[in-house]
Amino acid sequence: MSNKIIFSIDVEPDLHTGKFDGITIGLSIFEGLCDKHNIKPTLFVTGTCIQEHPDIFTKLKKKGWDISSHGFSHKRFDEMSFSEKEDELKSVLKLFKNKLKMVPKGFRAPQHSIDSDTLDLLEKYGFEYDSSYTPLNLLQLFFFPSRFKKWLGNFISPLNPYKIRKNLIEIPTSSLIIPFVSLTVRIFPKSLIRIYLYKLRWFYKEPVFYAHSWDFIKLNESKVDSAFSHKRFIKNLDYLMSLQK
Ligand SMILES: [Zn+2]
Repeated sequence: MSNKIIFSIDVEPDLHTGKFDGITIGLSIFEGLCDKHNIKPTLFVTGTCIQEHPDIFTKLKKKGWDISSHGFSHKRFDEMSFSEKEDELKSVLKLFKNKLKMVPKGFRAPQHSIDSDTLDLLEKYGFEYDSSYTPLNLLQLFFFPSRFKKWLGNFISPLNPYKIRKNLIEIPTSSLIIPFVSLTVRIFPKSLIRIYLYKLRWFYKEPVFYAHSWDFIKLNESKVDSAFSHKRFIKNLDYLMSLQK
């Protein structure tokens, strides 16, 4: 059984510090793993990161990686007015055109803050897919009670890619009560990662994993990084990548 895993990274300024070490240091570690396992991943990149390091994304685009959008400013889309959302997407497209000479195909809303207006706008501006939905994610449902209603809608949404608008595909991130994200890969021992992936594959044709650019670097202020270090994450991710063959 070898249905592949889609590896995706949300590329944004570093957690706590707002620096770009996740890009200058973190992404090159991730690149090494992808090269080793012959993986072409997807990056959802904020506008600010492209402004700061256009050369890095141009290089990765040339390697055949999917360079997609994570918004311009990393603000939540469901807290913006309609015209703010539209302006944000327009500046994303302009930046991709000017700095990377390309049109982004995909979009992932910061903190999964996708809403109906944003989906309409993605379709209007020619995006091919969105990857913001989080079905079967029980942790999200209970850790963020203020957004319970939104996350409940996500919880029961379809698991595999589907048409969410006439000309827009939704490629949901994968979860099986526990989400298929960096935190899970940090915490689980290898034996559990293997079992978890096996179960995921019962439900997801091509499981979608995601992490952040700052998962690959040392974060001094992060309790998660001191308990389950980025080095452990990198080793476990290497193992996870080896399982897709
Ligand atoms: Zn983000």
